[in-house]
Amino acid sequence: MTDGQSFMAALAVLYGAETANVAGPDEVGFISGIGRRFRLVYPAGSIGRNPVGFVFGNPLPPLGSVFQAQNLPVSISPRGVLAFTAAATNPAGRAGDAGPYVRFSETASFDCDGRDVRAGRKRLVRCGTPEAAAKLARMLEGLRRAGEADREEMVRHALDASLDATAIRERVEEWRKAVRPVRIWANVLVVSVFAGWPAVAMTVGLFLTWPALVAALAACMVGTAVTFRRANHALYPAKTTERTQRQAQVSVVPMSAMRAHDYLARPLLAGFHPLAVAKVLLVEADFTALAGRVVRDLAMPVGPVLPGESAEVREAEESFRAAHRAAVGDFLGREGHDPAAFMAPPAARDASSRSYCPRCHAQFVTEGGKCADCGGMTLKPMKGE
Ligand SMILES: [Zn+2]
Repeated sequence: MTDGQSFMAALAVLYGAETANVAGPDEVGFISGIGRRFRLVYPAGSIGRNPVGFVFGNPLPPLGSVFQAQNLPVSISPRGVLAFTAAATNPAGRAGDAGPYVRFSETASFDCDGRDVRAGRKRLVRCGTPEAAAKLARMLEGLRRAGEADREEMVRHALDASLDATAIRERVEEWRKAVRPVRIWANVLVVSVFAGWPAVAMTVGLFLTWPALVAALAACMVGTAVTFRRANHALYPAKTTERTQRQAQVSVVPMSAMRAHDYLARPLLAGFHPLAVAKVLLVEADFTALAGRVVRDLAMPVGPVLPGESAEVREAEESFRAAHRAAVGDFLGREGHDPAAFMAPPAARDASSRSYCPRCHAQFVTEGGKCADCGGMTLKPMKGE
């Protein structure tokens, strides 16, 4: 391999690394290819005690986008907040063990530091993005300042807001308009580096042309940085450290400039429920498949839930999951679905199916037993054999 080929290979590797979006263990990704059709992906290798996974964007900028969404990573009761949710959108399992529980009456304030939400001086929970952390911290601080009697309704209101498909649609449309010029410049940058440079090197040579190539690179970088600045400000008007960092990175690192549209997409839907995002972005069959999983998971979470914890902590989880379940039920009703229908047994895969797991709907050839993937859920007999 010549020096030039090695250089281009190194650039390609660096560019590939830029397509990896860090995702929290309970986040899901929505990825599109050509056109507006999205598919759901789960971060690989992020379940259990491993706190970080990745959602990979499409390598070519014109071909798609990647959004990320997550359930609220906490359970809230009128008395306190627990850094744990029993809800597991990822079929591979729940994100991890329970974190701290804090009472509203004993906490001086809730705020955020990057992706971390803090209760007083200690870290309560880590969110997928700084934007999600800021939104959660604002919500918890509002609850802390409110009276205990008002908190139940406020939590329910927050859950309903996270399931607002109309607001998600508007946000995505706003993003589409804002990101268009950024995407054009990023594409020009990718084509000039990965097609223009090798073509010039192989025909004319780099000895005389390198000043022009560097000037072209600089022009593309400036174009991307200027359009990115406009879109970054329009989509994220709050002047935060993260917004400034995104701008600096896109302005000085060519590989980051090529993926500038990903920086604008990733935090876009912070605070919105994955199921409502799915309603907006996925085809109906994929949405209903996810809806079934979410409904059954909220009714029958992976066990055991909070073994050994106090009654107050368990009550926070149970009351929040009940509110979450009710909000999802109302959302599905608004979208024309009967939540109870998702609890029905699955159709038998074939004549050998004798039982099924009521949570994940896996089918078994045995008459009874337990589903290990769902924490030992007792299997039910398959009807209509
Ligand atoms: Zn199962």
